[in-house]
Amino acid sequence: MIYRELQKWYKCHCEPRRGEAISLKGLLRSLRSLAMTQVLTLFIFGLLFSGCQQKQLYKDTRLMMGTFVEVVSPDQRALPIVFDEIKRIEKLLSKYDPQSEISRLNAAGKLKVSPETYYVMEKSRDFWEASQGAFDITVAPLVKLWGFRDKDYKVPDKKQIGKLLALTGTDKIIFHKADNVIEFNTSGTQVDLGAIGKGYAIDCAVIKLKEQRISSCLINTGGQVYALGDKLGSPWKVAIQNPRGNGASGSLLLKDQSVSTSGDYEQYFLKNKKRYSHIIDPKTGYPVDNGIVSVTVIASNGLIADALSTSVFVLGREKGEQLAKNYPGVTLKITEEKDVQNN
Ligand code: AMP
Ligand code: MG
Repeated sequence: MIYRELQKWYKCHCEPRRGEAISLKGLLRSLRSLAMTQVLTLFIFGLLFSGCQQKQLYKDTRLMMGTFVEVVSPDQRALPIVFDEIKRIEKLLSKYDPQSEISRLNAAGKLKVSPETYYVMEKSRDFWEASQGAFDITVAPLVKLWGFRDKDYKVPDKKQIGKLLALTGTDKIIFHKADNVIEFNTSGTQVDLGAIGKGYAIDCAVIKLKEQRISSCLINTGGQVYALGDKLGSPWKVAIQNPRGNGASGSLLLKDQSVSTSGDYEQYFLKNKKRYSHIIDPKTGYPVDNGIVSVTVIASNGLIADALSTSVFVLGREKGEQLAKNYPGVTLKITEEKDVQNN
């Protein structure tokens, strides 16, 4: 079972590595747009122009999990393996597929789910506890109300927000471990795994690659990246971009690491010159408004990087840095509005 291996991996790969710290110079911004949405992505550059020209890199991009998924590897077999695995996870966790387990759970309020979906739900609860409620997958109705689910953006009135806040809180989820049943104790509560699902999908894909003894691959799911092994003898180079400007502002060298960025420029709208972005503060029901522009997390696995970047974004610098200390080996870079004002 993939999720069992992942549980082991999660435990084993959290040891600090000396000399791992990477100083990040800036943050990253995608210029890609998907339908009406600006989607965060990490630019991968130099991929096809390695110093070692005799070996070829294979690359393909597919629209999956609501974003562009890009896979690069010197082993051609890697591409279908990654796409197939991400597709499989999408069928479990997607909020856009009405047949996914998450959609069926949201519709029914109670469902026996697969061990994998159950695992991701449990991990979500762990992050909710660790972040003191900042990471909360039950923001789903609020995400929808603000229009971030269907790209139909609006500022709702306070009354509507108040109503949905009453449905919010991971403590409204009952976990029946014996039979993998998830149940909501409040009618109308729903979950959205948008802040953790892509990280999990990447981790599953990496396990599949390793099973096939593929040791070099870069996977980018629009903001979550995993760099498996190295790129023809050098670490994978992933460029980062200024969140308020054009062009790369720095780059990361990665090997057997995941990087995730949560930013206020991934999905947002402007109303009366105010920016409203897709990460919701579960305490207020409003998009986070704490001066944070972007949080980048480098970790040993995708799930931690993904969930932690969202958690820190909500918590802000001080509490976010405190939280990150609980995850050994994690590198964190927070960019605030004041850091990018002159860009
Ligand atoms: P990410 O880009 O990984 O930071 O995830 C952001 C996505 O997670 C949003 O588009 C929502 O679907 C969902 N989300 C928004 N706010 C939260 C929150 N406070 N906790 C967990 N998930 C959230
Ligand atoms: Mg996330």
